[in-house]
Amino acid sequence: MKPFEYKAVHSIEEACSALAEYGSDAHILAGGTDLLIELRKQNIRTPKVVVDISFIKELRGIESINGTINLKPLATHTQLLQSSILHQYASLLSSAASVIGSPQIRNRGTIGGNIMNAATCADTVPPLIALGAKITLKLKSGSRQLDLSDLFIKPYQTKAKPEELLTEISFLKLSPNAKSSFIKLGRRNALAISRLSVAAILFFNEKGIITEARIVPGAALPIWRRVTEAEQIMIGEIPSTELFKTAGQKVSEVMISHTGRRWSTEYKEPVIATLVRRALEQCV
Ligand SMILES: Cc1cc2nc3c(=O)[nH]c(=O)nc-3n(C[C@H](O)[C@H](O)[C@H](O)COP(=O)(O)OP(=O)(O)OC[C@H]3O[C@@H](n4cnc5c(N)ncnc54)[C@H](O)[C@@H]3O)c2cc1C
Repeated sequence: MKPFEYKAVHSIEEACSALAEYGSDAHILAGGTDLLIELRKQNIRTPKVVVDISFIKELRGIESINGTINLKPLATHTQLLQSSILHQYASLLSSAASVIGSPQIRNRGTIGGNIMNAATCADTVPPLIALGAKITLKLKSGSRQLDLSDLFIKPYQTKAKPEELLTEISFLKLSPNAKSSFIKLGRRNALAISRLSVAAILFFNEKGIITEARIVPGAALPIWRRVTEAEQIMIGEIPSTELFKTAGQKVSEVMISHTGRRWSTEYKEPVIATLVRRALEQCV
């Protein structure tokens, strides 16, 4: 690892001032589970300064305010999976957090780092997009809010400026008529990154008819998005295996229309369809 300056900051203001001063010469450090690996690579541009935000108390916690859940970026994956608020109102997110890395990684890794690193295999992002999450990015001179689905440009690249700090992730609580699930497929059961994943939410009326559907595949498309083409197939329908199979096949078709046929398509084409069917079945 090449040398760099280390700066620990203790408030959002201090962090934003440091980021404003150093711009693209600074890197933010939260849990460090992605950044430290990156800094050990030989071919990267070493930052002049690493700004450690992990001591900032205002950036910790999971809150429920009226109908909204606010996650602070330093919430660790362990905190997400143990949160009773998320279990009750956004269980697909705690499911995703529960299958990240190992206990050590989940204790250290944060939701903010998982989002901002923007790896295609980031497990918290598909559930958050399915939940319609918004994020707040703060600069020294102000802040802006945007839909999480608008943050990403391509794998490992976001629209956030180097001087911007992620300070909040928020979404509406799921209502009791919504059922959700998250499925991840790795090369093995533990300590594996996602080869493919699916976040799904189905909303039902009192007759058991699907009134709204949200499907977000992970590691399947160049950037995450809801597959509305598959979601629409289910609106107004009663859940059935056939219906969920059709939705799964549509997701597979959409994936191929974006990625084209590659060496991995033979595997991914049937597997994503099956994962979507299973995720939808888990919802019911
Ligand atoms: C062995 C191992 C297994 C893993 N398994 C998984 C897995 O199964 N699933 C998965 O999704 N990930 C996995 N990861 C990746 C990693 O643990 C997660 O992405 C983690 O959530 C990153 O959080 P962090 O706090 O460690 O981020 P850091 O490494 O501190 O930061 C990551 C990036 O985000 C930026 N950043 C962090 N916080 C902010 C902020 N508030 N505002 C702006 N930018 C910010 C940093 O500058 C850096 O570019 C694994 C990593 C390892 C080492």
